[in-house]
Amino acid sequence: MRAGLYIHFPFCAAKCPYCHFSSLPWDETSYRTWRQGLEREAAAPREAGYEFDTVYLGGGTPSLLGPDEVVWVRELVQAHFFLKIEEFTLEANPVASRTNFFGGWREAGVTRLSVGVQSFDEAVLRTLGRPYTAEEALRFCRTGRRAGFDALSIDLMIGIPGETPAAVERSLDTALGLEPDHVSVYILENVEGLPFEELLVRHPVDEDAVVDAYDRIRDALEAAGLRQYEISNFARLGKECRHNLKYWRYEPFIGLGPSAGSHLPGRRWCNKTCLDDWADALSRNETIREDVVELTPSLAAREALVFGLRLVEGVDLGAFTERFNVDIMALFGREINELVAEGLLVLSAGRLRIPSRNFLVSNRILAKFV
Ligand code: SF4
Repeated sequence: MRAGLYIHFPFCAAKCPYCHFSSLPWDETSYRTWRQGLEREAAAPREAGYEFDTVYLGGGTPSLLGPDEVVWVRELVQAHFFLKIEEFTLEANPVASRTNFFGGWREAGVTRLSVGVQSFDEAVLRTLGRPYTAEEALRFCRTGRRAGFDALSIDLMIGIPGETPAAVERSLDTALGLEPDHVSVYILENVEGLPFEELLVRHPVDEDAVVDAYDRIRDALEAAGLRQYEISNFARLGKECRHNLKYWRYEPFIGLGPSAGSHLPGRRWCNKTCLDDWADALSRNETIREDVVELTPSLAAREALVFGLRLVEGVDLGAFTERFNVDIMALFGREINELVAEGLLVLSAGRLRIPSRNFLVSNRILAKFV
């Protein structure tokens, strides 16, 4: 069975004030702990019978790794997993010194460079506390574009305090000028307890402006040939992220590294989040799996529906019934009929989907199935 392999690199040069991901400041000792833990985790016994066709090196900031270290990661997983890699993504932050690595990363097998630009507007980057200038971000992506990766992806963020329509336009124009294969558009989340929370209280973001920015970006990307395929993701035909599609199509994947999630038929789990706890457990041959959930057919069907509705293609109800042996209309007929009557869902030719005009209220729609 085909599956995806995710490897979590938990380090960043510095913590961004809005970040709620599992990331730590980089230091040599912690890095050695991660390498040792990863060696042990990769070699540990696990469920067999999977052929891994996508590898995703995410973080954190995996672009802190030089080409030799990416080769090390690749050879490590090659030694312990049955790989037939069709897509190998590396997440990168646009830091000037890393442009020298592009050739080496390609030689290490990276096929897809996903750059967390967030914005090409100087003032917005300063508000976000990102450690590069708009000019550096542009140069990084331009060099990445020329380096010959199969796909260049750019992350943009909206909903940032002080971000004007002109700033959104500037970012969008610059991104389109780079002719990316893939663009992800995220809305800044206000997560309680983060340093950014106070700024968001002092400068609340106008929700209508966020809707306008999202619509404007979606229309411009579509006009430029980047088709929307998921709530936050746009790609040229054939350049969709195959690894991330596995999450939304509820297909199997295994995650390595602290806090990495895994999902195989019948079960999903998360690794211990704390780097030291994860590494200590591995050194003692103890389990690193937490939050293990046994997936009954009805729970699996429910989760697959929630993920599948994030996709523009939605879900094929016939295939769904065959796959989970669960009739989704028997399970959620009332909710689906109500949402269809409200125009929030569309049921047509056996497919259930959220029309793209409703993507920004998808949380409200998906909450009905949780
Ligand atoms: S670079 Fe990304 S993962 Fe690292 S702290 Fe910033 S937002 Fe979080």
